[in-house]
Amino acid sequence: KPVIGVLALQGGVAEHLAALERSGADARPVRRAEELAAVQGIVLPGGESTTMTRLLDTFELYEPLRERLAAGLPAYGSCAGMIMLSREVLDSDIRGDRELPAVRPLGALDVVVRRNAFGRQVDSFETDLEFAGIPDGPVHAVFIRAPWVEKVGADVEVLAEVSDSGPDSGPDDPDTTGRDAAAGRIVAVQQGPVLATAFHPELVGGDERVHRYFVQIVRARLGSTAQA
Ligand code: GLN
Repeated sequence: KPVIGVLALQGGVAEHLAALERSGADARPVRRAEELAAVQGIVLPGGESTTMTRLLDTFELYEPLRERLAAGLPAYGSCAGMIMLSREVLDSDIRGDRELPAVRPLGALDVVVRRNAFGRQVDSFETDLEFAGIPDGPVHAVFIRAPWVEKVGADVEVLAEVSDSGPDSGPDDPDTTGRDAAAGRIVAVQQGPVLATAFHPELVGGDERVHRYFVQIVRARLGSTAQA
């Protein structure tokens, strides 16, 4: 079984560990550099990217993680995890004039993301998405104060965008306002062995397709390095 870590400083750690186990991985929490050294892939969960930045420093994991990612460690980031994997972060969080705490992204994905992109009125929404490379129908996507991808580099593959209409869409339906604002926005990307989603598949019980997709990326990577 591929050994896949979940960065366990903050956020939705348990849900990712469970989803990875159900997807055929040996899933382990990562809080220390020794634990990071033992994994063949890593998941960066949702949470709060400013807090995650601070805790990566506190636990002396920022530099070791950045180095392993630069060396090709397969990684999957959901929501705040996507923000952490990006190369540049824009911020739509408007909470008065106070200075916003800094996010220091790890630069594993050649994308510019916008934090809290859906605006303050609609923090969260759910929708179904076509996800390139994932068979058997759309993926149910849960967005919680989510980012979107605003720019992608030439080597980045777009796997999912929010569609601009759907059966449950409507201007008067508060549940779909966020989605309408997000129409056409990029919410899942891959660059080599690095995968990111703006949404939280770990919160959708009974559907491990995104986690299985990532476990496949890790297996493929292990196969190619074993032959090299
Ligand atoms: N808004 C959070 C951030 O900017 C992300 C929210 C999430 O991970 N659900 O880090």
